[in-house]
Amino acid sequence: MREYVKLTERDNVAVVTQDKAKGTEIMPGLKLLDDIPQAHKFALVDIPKDGEIIRYGVVLGYALDAIKRGSWINEHMLRLPTSPSVDNMPWGININKNLPEAPRKTFMGYKNPEGFYAGTRNILGIQTTVQCVQGVLNVAVEKIKREILPKYPNVDDVVAINHAYGCGVAINAPLAEIPIRALQNITKHPNFGGVLMVVSLGCEKLTVEKLIGPENNTPENVIVLQDCKGFDAMINAILSMAEKKLKILNARKREELPLSDLLVGMQCGGSDAFSGVSANPSAGYAADMLVQAGATVMFSEVTEVRDGVNFIAERCVSEEVRDKLANEMRWYDNYLAEGQVDRSANPAPGNKKGGLSNIVEKAMGSIAKSGTSPIVEVLSPAERPTKHGMIYAATPASDMVCGPCQLASGIGLQVFMTGRGTPYGLAAAPVIKVCSRNEMKDQWFDVIDISAGAVVTGEKTIQEVGTELFNFILDVASGVKKPYTEQYGLHNFLCIFNPAPIT
Ligand code: CA
Repeated sequence: MREYVKLTERDNVAVVTQDKAKGTEIMPGLKLLDDIPQAHKFALVDIPKDGEIIRYGVVLGYALDAIKRGSWINEHMLRLPTSPSVDNMPWGININKNLPEAPRKTFMGYKNPEGFYAGTRNILGIQTTVQCVQGVLNVAVEKIKREILPKYPNVDDVVAINHAYGCGVAINAPLAEIPIRALQNITKHPNFGGVLMVVSLGCEKLTVEKLIGPENNTPENVIVLQDCKGFDAMINAILSMAEKKLKILNARKREELPLSDLLVGMQCGGSDAFSGVSANPSAGYAADMLVQAGATVMFSEVTEVRDGVNFIAERCVSEEVRDKLANEMRWYDNYLAEGQVDRSANPAPGNKKGGLSNIVEKAMGSIAKSGTSPIVEVLSPAERPTKHGMIYAATPASDMVCGPCQLASGIGLQVFMTGRGTPYGLAAAPVIKVCSRNEMKDQWFDVIDISAGAVVTGEKTIQEVGTELFNFILDVASGVKKPYTEQYGLHNFLCIFNPAPIT
């Protein structure tokens, strides 16, 4: 079993694969000078004060004091470098034409009549214009699931699209376009089969017309609670519309589709220093296979790519894609600056406990989940893609905000990598959990779907775990398998990204 992981020739640090005691001879002639917790770094050479600390072949930071060979390097010992400039980033100089051959080229999905990506599930999604209706809708949905859904066996679920937006907001502020676009696009999610059903209050700022267009604002699609006489009338109106919609959805059938009809989202959360060694590179390998077979894969999380943005720019297929990438980074830099912070506000206490010293180290691990494919398109938050291949969608890194943004972009499922563990899930699309280390899988044996821990210990290769994940993704997309989050119904609230003022 491997004792430590050094990632590139240039690195002057390595991470230990297990807790290691002070005095351990970790490699011939190198004794550890401190106790080193699992996944944490130790110095491979003496590093002078202000010297570079290098992992992934990049400078994570500069030593605040001299660091002796064999010492523990934690987050208190380095100074953050400045982020790379986004001006004039070289593009198209790293276009990989040798992606790994995919073992399967089709999946069983619900063809999208709109021509957009296919559905992976058959769900009645009940849209809402405003948070005020959530209580009533939740009562109705419980009743629908109990009394009506069992009559329609081809429908997987009934999901209330509850959110905190809709009223008490500056609806005409320029930045309001982001939450409005997110909700409009979630309405059109492929898993809802083009069926519209909206519950509105009647006095909100996000009007039904704004959400689904005036042409769709009909009594067949919309219930206005303020127009109902009493509580029972509200519930009955929702139940009777739901039954009509379930009848339509029940006729949907899976069919064999090319992978060009599949859109997969990638996210990570609760990362550790192994995320970039095992889980994310394995996901990256699966992503490369998906892209090779014609599928579309999306990765996101601006603050977690910002310090490695030049590596993404190198993979952009055109100047236009590179420019959009640069503009999204500038927008986010300004957004953070207005709050008087920068990307260094990102890492969480758990990330640091897991050995991630700063955002540069976290970003290098995060980017690994995008594999090596050319980047064909860059999206603003919650935009829908128009291309096939690897796509970067510039969303916040917060798990609960990135998830709804990717959902709005139309992902059929999400692959979620974690080192520390998170039970995060989405109601409208399955979420697959991949963990970075064996201890995580032991702890949450019935929450984590796939462990990449054997890559850390050297017992499996990235290619092996990546192929296993690729096959699991297609089985989940085809409805043959359900990830744990879906089996248990772990459905997080949809936090819609709203950078605009609340009134
Ligand atoms: Ca995240």
